[in-house]
This record gives sequence, structure tokens and C-alpha cells, in this order.
Amino acid sequence: MLGVRTAFGEAVYTMSDHVVRALCRALASYTDPDDRGTCIDCGSRRLDENLHCRDCGRLHGILGEVIAQHARRVAAASPESET
Ligand SMILES: [Zn+2]
Repeated sequence: MLGVRTAFGEAVYTMSDHVVRALCRALASYTDPDDRGTCIDCGSRRLDENLHCRDCGRLHGILGEVIAQHARRVAAASPESET
């Protein structure tokens, strides 16, 4: 089971073992030290172990997406809506 909680509510998804294994492999591929890929902003290949571009500062992969989404939520949320 995978639970997702956002500012708009919660949802729980039932996932088969097959899907969970596939998801774990996909997540693991993001931290593969031999394949960091290129920066989608500036094209640099100088990504460090956290998929952080040393040239333009862009974050990539799951960690970068989570941080970017969190930053957008914080920026969009008014103080009154945080209950
Ligand atoms: Zn870059």
C-alpha cells in the first residue's frame, strides 16, 4: 500500500508486489552512481551524488522533485490554510 498525503487530502493506493518491486527498481535507478545523466537545464554532466548540478544548481531525480514540489506548496499556501 502506498499512502499519499497532500494539502488537499489523503489517498491510499493498493499496489501488487510486482508493482512495488518495479517501483523500487525505478527509485534505485535514480541513485545509480554510474548513471547520473545530464542536467536538464544546462546540459552539464557534473551532477554530484545527490543529483545536484554543480554548474547551475538544479536538483534532479526523486529528491529534486520532492523538494521542488514542497517549495511550490509552501509558496502557494497561505498561512490560514495550514491547519
Ligand atoms: Zn545544470
